[in-house]
Amino acid sequence: MTRLTKIVATLGPASGSKTVIRNLVKKGVNIFRLNLSHGEHETVRQWIQWIREVEKECHTFIGILLDLQGPKIRVGKFEHGSINIKRGQIIVFTTEKKMGTVDLIPVQYSNFHKEVGVGNRIYLDDGNLSGVVKSISGLKVTVKMLVGGKLSNHKGLNLPDACISVNPITTKDKADLKFGLQEGVDLVALSFVGSAKDVNRLRELIRKEGGKGVEIIAKIERKQAVKNLQEIIQAADGVMVARGDLGVEIPLTEVPVVQQKILRYGAEHAKPVIVATQMLESMIENSRPTRAEVSDVANAVMDCADAIMLSGETAVGKHATAAVGVMVETALTTEAYMAKTKAIEPWNRFFREDPSINAGITYSANRLVELLHANAMVIFTLSGGTAKMVASPKPMVPIFSFTSSLQRARLLNLVRGTIPFVVENDRHLLLHIEEMLIMLKNKRLIKKGDRVVITTGIPVGIPNWTNVIRVEEVR
Ligand code: PEP
Repeated sequence: MTRLTKIVATLGPASGSKTVIRNLVKKGVNIFRLNLSHGEHETVRQWIQWIREVEKECHTFIGILLDLQGPKIRVGKFEHGSINIKRGQIIVFTTEKKMGTVDLIPVQYSNFHKEVGVGNRIYLDDGNLSGVVKSISGLKVTVKMLVGGKLSNHKGLNLPDACISVNPITTKDKADLKFGLQEGVDLVALSFVGSAKDVNRLRELIRKEGGKGVEIIAKIERKQAVKNLQEIIQAADGVMVARGDLGVEIPLTEVPVVQQKILRYGAEHAKPVIVATQMLESMIENSRPTRAEVSDVANAVMDCADAIMLSGETAVGKHATAAVGVMVETALTTEAYMAKTKAIEPWNRFFREDPSINAGITYSANRLVELLHANAMVIFTLSGGTAKMVASPKPMVPIFSFTSSLQRARLLNLVRGTIPFVVENDRHLLLHIEEMLIMLKNKRLIKKGDRVVITTGIPVGIPNWTNVIRVEEVR
């Protein structure tokens, strides 16, 4: 069975070797995420080169997603690398450039003292420690710690009650973006997006840097992003449920509901959704995940996420390849159940009134798959838009997607169910359908007697133009 749910894996010190990259690809990784907090440009350049070499060796397509860190607020350094904070302790946070001590925490964000208010909550280290602001005087902010613990150099700091003015594209991000585009990344993720404007600003930067066709993933991890979800999803090419920061920026118990909303809006607007962070967190240390983690992965698959993501599990974990294996097995088992029981919500749940011709055709193609018990869909996609549309009603069959561009094929790897192929001649899908079906049959992706629903656009060569449906029985 072809796996429909895609897997994104973050590269880091634990996986930054050609051998591990090859193992991860062979296990089932579709997209690599490069998080520049795990590597300098030189290191990441080498990783990109290895990914491209492995992609060729394995005769596959691998997307590369560059994750821009954005204005993540961090604490500075401590004299001894870390401090231990007690519950109830009064501690001073400062924006002065000072070394941290047991009762002084430097903050690497110059507007910190201006933008927090008395009574605001402060979370440290992904919410493991927390406190509340008691007073502010000059550059010093006095905080009463409510939950203590160990705080090490450069841990993250979240201010869910403050209105942070900072631009999500920092100077470092601009340099990282330029580097990534030069190295040929396919997708760029933007952290701490607040509105569609942030996405548009990044798109303009990508255009100026000559990043033709590079897609934008908006990371939903701030309260403001949740508020502006619809406009962000429309402006971006895909979204990520970035549950790490989201889980401290909004009440943790609201994260599953926000995840559902994002998945729903993503499907409604035909934009791929990545569910990220802590999916198999315990596998950073352990060779087996917890039951709850496997359930989390299975539930994301049942909710038809386009992709599920590994972060620390593959970046710094001890069992990177095994973690991908768990995701693959869980996805396959869950999808087999869904296909057999039709456990998926009705495919037309997101169908909009007054659809475009494209939407009508892709909806009908999905309906035909169900009516005729078809085994696959075959499409031609120039911009990738048709693939996203066809995939958005969440069919339980693979979508064999022919495109004329290598970059598109790599990008399609993020769209649920899409299996990309590059063809030289993009002009006559209908004339070439016979040979494409033979190729799919030779690769054992379809077999004699299978029904295949085909969609394409005539005249050819117009992006996002789909107006033909044809059904074939494989001979
Ligand atoms: C997250 O916060 O969940 C996330 C994916 O972003 P990062 O790993 O960059 O913090």
